[in-house]
Amino acid sequence: MANPRSSVSLRPDIDALPAYVPGERPAKGRQVYKLSSNEVPFPLLPAVGAALVDVGPDLNRYPDMHATRLVEALAEHHGVKPGRITVGNGSVAVLAHVLAAVCEPGDEVVMAWRSFEAYPIATQVAGARPVQVPVDAAGRHDLDAMAAAVTERTRAVLLCSPNNPTGPALTQSEVRRFLETVPPGVLVLLDEAYLEFVRQDDPTDGVALVDDHKNLVVLRTFSKAYGLAGLRVGYAVARRRLSAGFRAAATPFGVSSMALAGAVAALNCQDEVRARVDHVVAERTRVVDALTEQGWRIPDAQGNFVWLELGRRATAFADTARAQGVLVRAFAGEGVRVSVGERDGNDLFLDIAADWLRDRAGLSVL
Ligand SMILES: *Cc1c(COP(=O)(O)O)cnc(C)c1O
Repeated sequence: MANPRSSVSLRPDIDALPAYVPGERPAKGRQVYKLSSNEVPFPLLPAVGAALVDVGPDLNRYPDMHATRLVEALAEHHGVKPGRITVGNGSVAVLAHVLAAVCEPGDEVVMAWRSFEAYPIATQVAGARPVQVPVDAAGRHDLDAMAAAVTERTRAVLLCSPNNPTGPALTQSEVRRFLETVPPGVLVLLDEAYLEFVRQDDPTDGVALVDDHKNLVVLRTFSKAYGLAGLRVGYAVARRRLSAGFRAAATPFGVSSMALAGAVAALNCQDEVRARVDHVVAERTRVVDALTEQGWRIPDAQGNFVWLELGRRATAFADTARAQGVLVRAFAGEGVRVSVGERDGNDLFLDIAADWLRDRAGLSVL
């Protein structure tokens, strides 16, 4: 059969996608603090390590495709029916399945910006168009502007709370009000990847809103507070009918046996996880207070990271930090996101931040 193409062409929108920029990794053999990917600095929870070892001999078998044990454990943890839970190979994979299940070519997905860089990529891979609504001067979602950006073409709105990379979180009242504004045929996805680190009044609890809002999808992950970023497990909580669609759009056997067993074990370590999160939050308070004392203005930091709005000096700051042994995540022309890590790493970062201001006293860097 004749075909006029001389080579395989990629979809033009895929060809034009920006690459996801991962947080920098340390060069081999060099002692550096990796504060570039919002990981927690603790070693694997011992009970999770033991569960992974137990799975080893069975790795010749496919995992449980329905992730039964993990889904049941999550259902019990949240007090919801198992039919509401969809697990995936990281919550980024679940996000892709959610968008694949609802978007058609030409649809729009509304999101705050700057927000999580995976959102526009996942939107475009799903064939839809990202509509980015600027965060306000304090790095917060502008929910009124986001509601106003909803059109007939809008299939989904993505809310990120706390917002990566700027830091502020939404309140439950804000989310509730937003859900009452948005038409019921528009999917609202609330990404609570950093929920465990929130220490403000009226924190969001997306799972509690799913009963009243059929269009709400809540995204959670084991990558942050549970410290399992390398294992790749995340999940969505949504009404049963939607969840069935997300599962249908997912890769079969997409979550490995190791990831399933590790996540179940981690869920059973609530006290240890809480203690670790409390430690990170205490360090976050110390870092924010010290930066404020130095003269930096930091948006409200409710995740395990802080945002320095450095504008065109973002890359230079990251280069300076790297030279001194601290890897941070620069967003060129916008700012730098610095994860809260181990105490020594945080101290070194604080020294670098203080020197930066001192070296530029009189310049407008804030
Ligand atoms: C880190 C992060 C996630 C987690 O992604 P996984 O695929 O579960 O590792 C999700 N959303 C946001 C906003 C994040 O920053």
